[in-house]
Amino acid sequence: LTMACLTAIDAGTPLNAFVHATPEIALDQARAADARRGADAGALNGIPLGIKDLFCTKGVASQAASNILKGFKPEYESTVTSKLFEAGAVMLGKLNMDEFAMGSSNETSCYGDAVNPWKVDDRRLTPGGSSGGSAAAVAADLCLGATGTDTGGSIRQPAAFTGIVGIKPTYGRVSRWGIVAFASSLDQAGPMTKSVRDAAILLGAMAGHDPKDSTSADIPVPDFEAALTGDIRGRKIGIPREYRMDGMPAEIEALWARGREMLADAGAEIVDISLPHTKYALPAYYVIAPAEASSNLARYDGVRYGHRARLGQGDGIVDMYEKTRAEGFGKEVQRRVMIGTYVLSAGFYDAYYNRARKVRALIKRDFDEAFAAGVDAILTPATPSSAFGLGEMAEADPVAMYLNDVFTVTVNLAGLPGISVPVGLDAKGLPLGLQLIGRPWDEAGLLNHAHVLE
Ligand code: GLN
Repeated sequence: LTMACLTAIDAGTPLNAFVHATPEIALDQARAADARRGADAGALNGIPLGIKDLFCTKGVASQAASNILKGFKPEYESTVTSKLFEAGAVMLGKLNMDEFAMGSSNETSCYGDAVNPWKVDDRRLTPGGSSGGSAAAVAADLCLGATGTDTGGSIRQPAAFTGIVGIKPTYGRVSRWGIVAFASSLDQAGPMTKSVRDAAILLGAMAGHDPKDSTSADIPVPDFEAALTGDIRGRKIGIPREYRMDGMPAEIEALWARGREMLADAGAEIVDISLPHTKYALPAYYVIAPAEASSNLARYDGVRYGHRARLGQGDGIVDMYEKTRAEGFGKEVQRRVMIGTYVLSAGFYDAYYNRARKVRALIKRDFDEAFAAGVDAILTPATPSSAFGLGEMAEADPVAMYLNDVFTVTVNLAGLPGISVPVGLDAKGLPLGLQLIGRPWDEAGLLNHAHVLE
């Protein structure tokens, strides 16, 4: 299996999904897996996976697709990858992504664009972002599954654009230790897979309390695979009216209706609900995420990691910081750092950052109220469109790109689990996904509902 994937990765070079293949490590791990028997063989014994470049992998370049981390080889393994390896998984290599996970199209990567294996008339399409390499690799069968991370939609949007499954767990379900931080109060890792069952198995291996991440929750991890009974009789599914956006394409509307029917046919009760603060989610996200990013990215100073600018005569330490950061960070990352620094600055903190935090609390309360009223899961579209062409949005106003996250950021702001499931194709023949949002810690229920939509 590992050999077949390595061969496929070689052949799949035009997708630019893998940025470093690690065949020696993969073959060693695969041989060790072959030698394991019985109880020694974990749930993922010998299963070849791709790892997003945001995860620190011991001795293997981990650059978060940024030039500022050029040549950085961590001396430690992230908790998620350690757990996957303990379960027997094989690492095929590191996957392309947007720089520091900032983006929705994989076009901010220092490695260049990742390409969606789905095509329309030979037009090159984005696999989405930021976990674009993960999505492209899984969709093109270069690996059996991949890790992704999701701060505002980076697992769910690329999953929808490539016709695969992606789940963002409840905040605290999966350890963030050893994952390069973007916005620490929003970041969660999760699996990207071909099926809901694969997602259940991978999530089971990734999840669990980790004393090295103070925000990781000490809550037992259920058997997610055993929860896939397909029995959702009597479960209440909320349809939030605020997600019916003006100008929503008819095919997204139709897909959403089809999802409602599928769940109703399986015995669920469909109810209309209201999440009144939805329209403030995107602006709040684009204050909070850059604020946290500007703080997290302060560590890239040219001293501790990766790249350091060549200095001229008379340059001091401040010149070194400035030149290193100007050279090392791409345009979108610089934009986020500047927005973040601005909203956190003394004169604007209350007007922007504090205001956004209050809005975040209201968004969370909307969900709490829906769940308190008996709703078990919420069904929405995953994205406002199918995959768009590479280059099409990157050159436009950055806000056009930010609008991609309109259905997904609410979930991160509220810390809830969300899953994107491929449900159909649009008129161009491109995949479309629906999103299910669940109660905190109810990934098992969420996966079971998603299973009905497959
Ligand atoms: N596209 C969003 C952003 O650029 C979300 C990214 C993510 O989830 N990592 O911030």
